[in-house]
Amino acid sequence: MHNLLTQLTQILGTSGIVTGSAVAERIGTYWHPQPMQALAILRPANTEQLCACLKLCHQVGQVLIPLGGNTGLAEATACTAQDIMLSLERMQAIEDIDSIGRHVTVQAGAILERVQQEVNKHDLLFPVDLGARGSCTIGGMLATNAGGFGVLCHGMMREQVLGLEVVLADGTLISALNSYQKNNSGYDLKQLFIGSEGTLGVITRAVLRLKPLPRANATALLTANSFSQVTALLQHLDRHGMGALCAFELMWKSFWEMNIGDYAELNRSFTQSYPFYVLVEFQGQHTEQLTALFEATLEQAYEQELFCDALIAQSEAERHTFWAIREAYEAEERYFDRTQGFDVSLAIREMDTFVNLLDSRLKALDPRAILLVFGHLADGNLHLTTGFHQPLPDPQQVEEIVYSTLAEFKGAVSAEHGIGLEKKPYLSYSRKPEEIDLMRRLKHLLDPQGILNPGKVFDLQPSSTEIQQTALNALCGDPQT
Ligand SMILES: Cc1cc2nc3c(=O)[nH]c(=O)nc-3n(C[C@H](O)[C@H](O)[C@H](O)COP(=O)(O)OP(=O)(O)OC[C@H]3O[C@@H](n4cnc5c(N)ncnc54)[C@H](O)[C@@H]3O)c2cc1C
Repeated sequence: MHNLLTQLTQILGTSGIVTGSAVAERIGTYWHPQPMQALAILRPANTEQLCACLKLCHQVGQVLIPLGGNTGLAEATACTAQDIMLSLERMQAIEDIDSIGRHVTVQAGAILERVQQEVNKHDLLFPVDLGARGSCTIGGMLATNAGGFGVLCHGMMREQVLGLEVVLADGTLISALNSYQKNNSGYDLKQLFIGSEGTLGVITRAVLRLKPLPRANATALLTANSFSQVTALLQHLDRHGMGALCAFELMWKSFWEMNIGDYAELNRSFTQSYPFYVLVEFQGQHTEQLTALFEATLEQAYEQELFCDALIAQSEAERHTFWAIREAYEAEERYFDRTQGFDVSLAIREMDTFVNLLDSRLKALDPRAILLVFGHLADGNLHLTTGFHQPLPDPQQVEEIVYSTLAEFKGAVSAEHGIGLEKKPYLSYSRKPEEIDLMRRLKHLLDPQGILNPGKVFDLQPSSTEIQQTALNALCGDPQT
């Protein structure tokens, strides 16, 4: 092992590798911020160094965990004391902004917020945005196919990618830095790596699509008495908003009341309390035109009784306040002795039934359980927080209730955060054994030694239950289809 670290230091130089007690000065993962454990942290300065490190580790079967900003929420960067972290922190360059072709070429360690700021200077927008923007990297966002705000009109990370440069486990460089919208020349290999959570290759560069920078926003908080009113409102804004609708974020009353504390003044503007609160936003180029469209669309919606009450943001500061309520989570963490978060997808029309059923099952487990819900409703994505006081129920029992209820609705156990270690036991609740088997075969093909983030997303070997289920499906057909 000493020999391996010596050879890696020869490739990277002493500033390119962190070893010993300096490793523990960094934090482990987002949910478990204990000191990081790792044999070393590699910090290549360029793709050539990174290829050389992978080639060497592949030869000796050394496990490597690709690392971006470490803001992932699924324990996908968890590391043992025998593993080596492969950090992209020295590969942050924004290499080229093509304002005619509307794309940007970045190194994978570039921080999202910096990419956003740099392209804004060219009157362009990189449209994926999320709360971790100050720390998360383009490579990590690609590896988790991150979503966040704006998916409704721009899509997730996958939709932004024109080209990728990736290094395979054995050090082979796959440079597919395509910058064309249209390129059907053979298989679209980049799709394999997007959302693969560092298990199939290390992303080193990306060519990302850009949009014209919007110059106008119109934002409102609306209230509703029923879920059917909310979905009718979504359909109305979608149909009559002329493509300007870019956010439709729904907050259930339980979430709203928990997180409104710091904004009580704003809450008093509503005449009463409601079961649902919706943050809607339009974006466009001309303030006057956009405001007129926004107000006319809302007026029609009000006449058709598609919402009850409205607060329209009168300033940028007020718009930020509306978003701050939607992004808040500190109050719930203070209030409960333990919270557990979930990020799921399911059919929009079934969401309220699912939430009510889940709430009743959690209360059967613990009558004081509280379920807080908000979501990117238009994307079919809900974020659920379960809150408990002492004495605490078994966390796995809570997960089992959430995911088995979700399975009844054919939902997805991860909408945008990925599987990592956290959701690995539940992957089979939303993916069929044959799908997981194909994932394993791809993993084996691209990383035969199993050195890249092994044990994340799925185990390298199928469990006996999976083998039995596959055999049963082959005999009797799949009950899920
Ligand atoms: C406050 C907060 C808000 C968030 N909001 C959202 C949200 O709205 N929507 C959403 O989708 N997500 C959200 N996230 C989670 C989101 O997944 C991450 O913030 C981001 O996508 C991960 O980027 P990262 O650079 O921190 O990656 P890391 O956490 O470092 O890594 C994540 C995964 O990617 C792999 N990886 C990292 N870099 C590379 C690379 N170069 N090549 C190959 N694999 C790599 C890692 O091995 C790991 O599997 C949020 C997180 C936080 C903390």
